[in-house]
Amino acid sequence: MNRNRLHTNTTPTILFVDMNSFFASCEQQVNFWLRGRPVGVCVYTGRHGCVISPSVEAKLRGVKTGMRLDDAMVICPDLVPVETHPGRYREFHVKLIAVLRTFCDDVLPKSIDEAVVDLTNYQLPYPDPKQVAYAIKRAIREHVGDYLRCSIGIAPNVFLAKLASDVQKPDGLTLITPDTLDGVLRTLRLTDLPGIGQRMADRLQRHNINTPIELRYSTPDHLKAVCQSVIGWRWHIRLNFGGEVDLDTSEHYKSMSAMRTISAEQRATLDKLDALLMALCLTLERRMVKHGIFCQSLSLSCRYESGQTYQCEIKLQPPRQDGPDLYDLIQQRLSAFQQRHPRQMVLNSHLRSMNVIVSRFVLTEQVPLNLFEDTTRKDKLRQTLYDLKAKFGTEKLIRANELSDDPVYRDVIGFGNINDL
Ligand SMILES: [Mg+2]
Repeated sequence: MNRNRLHTNTTPTILFVDMNSFFASCEQQVNFWLRGRPVGVCVYTGRHGCVISPSVEAKLRGVKTGMRLDDAMVICPDLVPVETHPGRYREFHVKLIAVLRTFCDDVLPKSIDEAVVDLTNYQLPYPDPKQVAYAIKRAIREHVGDYLRCSIGIAPNVFLAKLASDVQKPDGLTLITPDTLDGVLRTLRLTDLPGIGQRMADRLQRHNINTPIELRYSTPDHLKAVCQSVIGWRWHIRLNFGGEVDLDTSEHYKSMSAMRTISAEQRATLDKLDALLMALCLTLERRMVKHGIFCQSLSLSCRYESGQTYQCEIKLQPPRQDGPDLYDLIQQRLSAFQQRHPRQMVLNSHLRSMNVIVSRFVLTEQVPLNLFEDTTRKDKLRQTLYDLKAKFGTEKLIRANELSDDPVYRDVIGFGNINDL
């Protein structure tokens, strides 16, 4: 459905709900004895583990997302490391969306801990969006979990509502209107705007746009020229109440693919090809988690130096989202193929590129709940990844990423990075 609209609108009817310290709060919700204590949710709680979600208490003590566990322990010695439970968070996500849908039908999940509540067509029953926001906070405490808090931003469009939800944490409520927008923008850098990364910021700065305020007051033509696409014009619309450009769900992904060409060094050993395949599956997992979807179809296509190709497609019933699960299914298919045709391995030293594609998506909340039991992430596969992380360490991985283009490393870093969720 396309709910984008291109006419000036200054009525704040969009609510952006962002759960605070979501993974850590879910852990505190189910374990009473974690409440009030600094908790760090980690994919792996060994020495070189990495905190992917610090609790509100841990954040107050200086623990940051992505911090290494041994560093976090130095600044916060009573930090309680807790291993991640993806199935648990998905279960809370499903309950959260169900609660939001009791307010209106126009609810769009944006990620596992964020959703847009579009009250544009509900101005008659809800004349005051702030009252709705308070009611949502209450309903979450009553029906999802009494320890769960959220920050809600209210604005005339999705982008500004998300920006507003970042202003006050935890348990925030911020309204952005034409009167207050410049005040909010003045406190921010370009890279604080959701959707502006360092590369985009550099590009803007090369064209003399150094701050969010300057971005807001650049002409649409200038922005179009700077971005060399319609993207620039969208920034103008977002920051000038020109309408809604972030609610077009019709362009929802039909498929997602993760593809890498393979260097001579990578194809030299099967281990590296394995790690690369895993990294591609994890990349797709992250993107599906981010968009709140599961896939029902998975395919792998390989291209070899000679120009030959190999392709397989796997139907997934039930739908899947877990990267190691996808990896496992592909490996099963490959070994079955190789048993029948033992002459040559599919993953071999002549491989030039590997492409993993997922498609036929269903929304997370349409997947039956019993599937969320955490039967995923088989130990052996998880170990592969942890070994990589332990071997290189988070900081070294980041440096490797900056210095080299090695896609294995780049993808593995992203794993567990909450910014991607
Ligand atoms: Mg959040």
